[in-house]
Amino acid sequence: MRRVNSLRTKLVIIMVLLILALMTVVGAFLMNGVSRFYIDRFYDSMEQTFSQDFLRSLREVAEESDTPAAQLKEMLMAQSDLGIDIVSRNVYILDENGTVLDASTDDRDITVTENLLAAMNGRVGEGSSASSDCMDLAIPLETSKGTFLIYILDNRATVNDLTSAVLTIVLRSLVLGVAICVVLSFLLSRILITPIRALTAGTQQVAAGDFSQKLEVASHDEIGTLTRNFNDMSRVLQSTLSEVENERTKLSTLFLTMTDGVTAFDAAGRMIHYNPAATQMLSRNLDLNVTFGELYGGEAEFDKIMALQRPEFFECEKHVENRELELFMAPFAPPQGGVLVVIHDVTEQRKNEQTRREFVANVSHELRTPLTNVKSYAETIITSGDELPPEMRSKFLGVIVNEADRMTRIVQDLLTLSKFDYGKMEMSFTRFSLAEAVRHVCEAERIDAENHSHKLTLAMDEHDTLDVLGDQERIEQVVMNVVSNAIKYTPDGGEIRVSAGRDGNGLFVHVKDNGIGIPEKDLPHLYERFYRVDKARSRQSGGTGLGLSIAQEILSMHNGSIRIDSVFGEGTDVHLTLPAAE
Ligand code: ADP
Repeated sequence: MRRVNSLRTKLVIIMVLLILALMTVVGAFLMNGVSRFYIDRFYDSMEQTFSQDFLRSLREVAEESDTPAAQLKEMLMAQSDLGIDIVSRNVYILDENGTVLDASTDDRDITVTENLLAAMNGRVGEGSSASSDCMDLAIPLETSKGTFLIYILDNRATVNDLTSAVLTIVLRSLVLGVAICVVLSFLLSRILITPIRALTAGTQQVAAGDFSQKLEVASHDEIGTLTRNFNDMSRVLQSTLSEVENERTKLSTLFLTMTDGVTAFDAAGRMIHYNPAATQMLSRNLDLNVTFGELYGGEAEFDKIMALQRPEFFECEKHVENRELELFMAPFAPPQGGVLVVIHDVTEQRKNEQTRREFVANVSHELRTPLTNVKSYAETIITSGDELPPEMRSKFLGVIVNEADRMTRIVQDLLTLSKFDYGKMEMSFTRFSLAEAVRHVCEAERIDAENHSHKLTLAMDEHDTLDVLGDQERIEQVVMNVVSNAIKYTPDGGEIRVSAGRDGNGLFVHVKDNGIGIPEKDLPHLYERFYRVDKARSRQSGGTGLGLSIAQEILSMHNGSIRIDSVFGEGTDVHLTLPAAE
């Protein structure tokens, strides 16, 4: 069956059904009422007519007449109250056996009804229902000439005409009512449906995500309230949605840019989310087909993680290539949800811890060696007493002083580095001539170079002061360290060339030697604290292994740089750069 979708059609159907039901009930009552009324009138008029007096006079007429049946008929037909019209209502005079003796009509063929039977049995028959075909009254009249039955029969033609007239009226009213109903329901539906259509269009737009349209509130009835509520709802929905969108954007930005990796799996262990950091840390292409087992099967069991209760989480480690990853796993939105895994890259942290441990070990070692020397030489002097020749004594005391100096240098260098580490390094920036500073360093180092028979040369533009904005003492310390390294790590009789000048917008100091050089594998580690290529040589020459670390820190505070190129066995080039003062 086709479903009725339009509200207008539904309204028309309901109205038509209503009017049909109403007219049917009214029609039925009306027709039944008319019929009942006619029957009641029939019997009332019979009762009034057939009074005792009238019956007595009928009896007298019958007894006196030779043709009693004809006389009785005539008398009864003369009674206008009885309404004998021959067409619909007739009078019959019967003998006690039911044989028609005379009648107001020629049609004497009558049916023996209950009323007639009652009269034959000596009783008055006066009952009729609305549903029966006719109305009749049978009265037995006992006379000396025998019993006559007076029988009045109405074939209900009048009442039938009346009811059919009523039916016609009802049907006409019904047609008119239905027509009015249809017109009215169309008008009503227009009043009701127009704002509902506007609301429907509005809801469709809202469903499509367009909240801009505000519906016009045209009435103050329930539909007006509904339209107002719809407008309010749409406004609240829009602001809620934009808040949710904001949160979503914030979260997705956080998710995309966070340094920790995040991977999420559904309850079946299939990947549902991952961020770029996770892809990078796990060193593999992730997609939504990857499972928990494939990624973390070696570290954890999915079912066990799913069974954890908040705020419990599972922590483990995973090694991917040369990375050390810390994994934090927890279920989300149990029991359906899934598992969230946060990946924290601890490679750098572990490296730092290792460096710190090595540093502490190095410091202890660096200080223990001179301390042991100091102790053993001092003990020798004490235990030997006067037996120790004076020249040996002064040699031992010289060693003690040297070792004390070395310890002092180490402690001073460590102090300097720790000041850099904690940002406590104080610098006094002034404008000074880098050319002057380099010349000063070369002069200071010249004696040392000559002691090793090195040829120390300095090449600079005489007229360019190479002005720098910085801490002169610290910059001289850097240049001194580099020049003294060149002297230390070049076999006697070597050549050390120092040059300084301008390179584009910046200044440079270049120290080149033809010394022992540095193996390529050591070059990246030279700035690490206590890193020394040849430990014995460094110590012997008074090195602490901290000079280049300090140099790098100082230069970086001046926005400068240091670069070391070297060929093992051939020599080393050290390039320092500094920005020129404006
Ligand atoms: P040190 O006090 O040991 O000289 P540095 O930090 O100044 O410490 O230097 C670190 C290491 O780099 C040295 O121990 C040495 O092995 C190497 N080095 C530095 N400069 C030179 C150079 N000019 N020639 C060869 N090796 C060098």
